[in-house]
Formats: sequence, C-alpha cells, structure tokens
Amino acid sequence: MMNNSPAYLRASLKTGKPVVYIDMDGVLCDFDKRHEKLMSKGINQFQAFNHTLAFKDLDPIPGAIEAWHALQEKYDTYILSTAMWSNIEAWTDKRVWVQKFLGKSANKKLILSHNKGLLKGSYLIDDRIANGVADFEGEHIHFGTGKFPTWKEVLDYLLTTEEKDNEENQVHNLVPDKEISE
Ligand SMILES: [Mg+2]
Repeated sequence: MMNNSPAYLRASLKTGKPVVYIDMDGVLCDFDKRHEKLMSKGINQFQAFNHTLAFKDLDPIPGAIEAWHALQEKYDTYILSTAMWSNIEAWTDKRVWVQKFLGKSANKKLILSHNKGLLKGSYLIDDRIANGVADFEGEHIHFGTGKFPTWKEVLDYLLTTEEKDNEENQVHNLVPDKEISE
C-alpha cells in the first residue's frame, strides 16, 4: 500500500508501509518479572507500580527484539505504550529502554498515550485491551492469548499476511499497461 499524498503533506517519518504499533509492558519488556520481584520484597502492588525500579532496564520478552527488526522491514513500526501517570520516572525509563534495546531503528518511534484508540494504523500488538486498545480501528493482535501466545505466532501471522499482499500485487502487475489505462 503506497502513500499517494503529495510529498509536502507527508510527515518526515512516514514510509508508506502499513503501520504496526507495539506495546511495551508484557509485549516488548518483561514487566511482570520485575513486578513480582519488587512485591517479593514485601511492598504492596501500588508501591511496586510506583517504585523507582518498576520500569527501569526491564528484560526483553523472548523474541521481542528480533521481532522488532523483522517487522520494521515490511511495516512502519512504532512503540505504543502507556506510562504510569503517577510514576514520572517511568516516562524516562521507557525512552531509555527503547534506545538501549531497539537502537537507532526506533529513534523517534516511541509514542506514550493513555488513549491508544486515537492512533491510526493497521495493527496494534498489545497484551491488554485497556487504555483505548479496545477502540483501535485497525486489528488488535492480542499478545499472550489464544492465537498469539508468543512472538513466533505474531511474526508468522504478520509476515505471511504481508507476503500474500505482495503476491496479489504481483498478479495485478501482470495485467498489461494498456488494460490498466483504459
Ligand atoms: Mg502491556
């Protein structure tokens, strides 16, 4: 799907590829492991969410980093996360995480929002339906559930779908130019 809008209307980051948003906690980063560790020290859930280490330097979810790189070749990939309003450090920790684990390919690709349903795009990979995910107008890939238990199933689905699209385009391109112009 190419973007046909005039160049002067296009934002600098726009590629013309389908847009995929990827959540952080529970999808790219292992928040649960950290949360359980903090709770095991005897603090309550609220304190654990607001702890200075709650979102700092989280371990990546298995396969997540590789998936980010695999997807961005065929999709316009963004990170779409909700940072805890009450934990101000979380906002910085997420920005630092993206740079550390995803590198340059994720520069300026982090979106923090409490209303994910406002974003336009083809897919949203998220482990929850909170924070507007249920209102997202594209397809919600519900990570960690039924059809998509791990990154492997997500990649199989998204990369296969894209290949099918390409095959359809190739068939279309076989139609002689004459017929298209008529
Ligand atoms: Mg999540």
